[in-house]
Amino acid sequence: MESAMHNFRDRHSTVNEEGKRNWVYAYQPAGKLYDWRSWVSYLYILLFVATPFIKIGGMPLLQLNLPEGEFSFFGFLFTPQDFIVFGICMLIGILFIVIFTLIYGRVFCGWVCPQTIFMEMIFRKIEYWIEGSAQTQKKNETAKYTTKVQARKILKHVLFFLLSFCIANLFLAYIIGIDKVYLIIKSSPLEHLAGFVTIIVFTFVFYSVYAFLREIVCTVICPYGRLQSVLVDKNTLTVIYDFIRGEPRSKNKNRVTDSGDCIDCKMCVRVCPTNIDIRNGTQLECINCTACIDACNAVMYKIGRLPNLIKIDSETNVKEGKHFRFDYRVKAYSTLLLILLILLSGFLASRKIFDATVLRVPGQIAQEQPVGKLSNLYRIKITNKTNNKLPYALLTTSPGVTIQKIGKSIDSLLGRQMQEEMFFLIVDEKNIKKRKQVFELILKSDKKEIDHLNAIFISN
Ligand code: SF4
Ligand code: SF4
Repeated sequence: MESAMHNFRDRHSTVNEEGKRNWVYAYQPAGKLYDWRSWVSYLYILLFVATPFIKIGGMPLLQLNLPEGEFSFFGFLFTPQDFIVFGICMLIGILFIVIFTLIYGRVFCGWVCPQTIFMEMIFRKIEYWIEGSAQTQKKNETAKYTTKVQARKILKHVLFFLLSFCIANLFLAYIIGIDKVYLIIKSSPLEHLAGFVTIIVFTFVFYSVYAFLREIVCTVICPYGRLQSVLVDKNTLTVIYDFIRGEPRSKNKNRVTDSGDCIDCKMCVRVCPTNIDIRNGTQLECINCTACIDACNAVMYKIGRLPNLIKIDSETNVKEGKHFRFDYRVKAYSTLLLILLILLSGFLASRKIFDATVLRVPGQIAQEQPVGKLSNLYRIKITNKTNNKLPYALLTTSPGVTIQKIGKSIDSLLGRQMQEEMFFLIVDEKNIKKRKQVFELILKSDKKEIDHLNAIFISN
């Protein structure tokens, strides 16, 4: 970016000249955007805590049961048999993320990502509350620890650990379900050793992330963050410094000839949780948290200048001195996003509650039945994709065709289970038009048609 590249760094934002970790003491932001972000976060945290407890038709609202390959989403259960629908949904999801990032940049990271929300809205706020402001924390770090400072540090880490334990339990509930987590908590660790160990491992992972790793997750570890450089372009909306308006910088608050609006107070840098100077241009480490916008606006109001020296806009608009508009590009991409969302909803809504396959039993020839009829033998496998026991019936409406079950006939299907039965399709010879003919079968549940299947009939 061709802005003022004042002493731009040649290393990662949280690494100092000796190659050691540069601990970030981010000032607490204050301003309109931070208030909005706080409200969004509170809603988000409420949803995060409540979701594992919410069920639709006996199914969790959201569960990603990776060990068993089952995913529950808004009451829809995806089993390994759904890999095609699931694959399509995944592709639509990935395309959605790519297009969303191309238009709106990394706004997800700063406003919706659980890592940022938990870090900035819970853990960092606890840190301010126990250890004081960023300035106090920095001062205490360089001075000799007093007993009081040490006690506060210990208290902070104990709280961080307990919170990490709670998050670990909730996180596990998204994988194995809240009922199983509850069972693990209630029982002795030895009865559910794997679950117990998983909770402990998750607790230590979350504790390390929020107590030590922090911004390193966003700037180094997260694959989405690493992809930013290929997903954004000069037209992408991002948190950006208006270098046309801000440069040349002058520390003088009273405007001098030729000076820009930036007074080089560095408040935008001090509030940055990833320790970057946004005035150096769009950088990989920027998570679009908008804290620098609030910080700079406060400075601008104080010195009587217009706000939004740092704002959300594209590099092209800043260079050309234009303001953000919903131009044809943004409109076209947003329409595409809407279409993808409709497609995704359509796929979910059209999913059937039974997954069934019907196959002619191999090696069997058509059998002659009394009074001019032929039969073929079939096996049907049906999975009930809901959590509840449901009535089930197999019918045919083809003229001259009847179904005769063999052995115990199934009239209901247990939730989340696959069952199978064998049956004969008996056809009047006068209805057989060719050697290989397809007859339609209908799956019903409680008089409601769930699916139509084809049975291939071979008359030798
Ligand atoms: S530069 Fe601004 S928006 Fe980007 S991470 Fe830092 S404070 Fe947040
Ligand atoms: S907060 Fe605003 S005025 Fe202060 S250094 Fe940053 S951009 Fe310049």
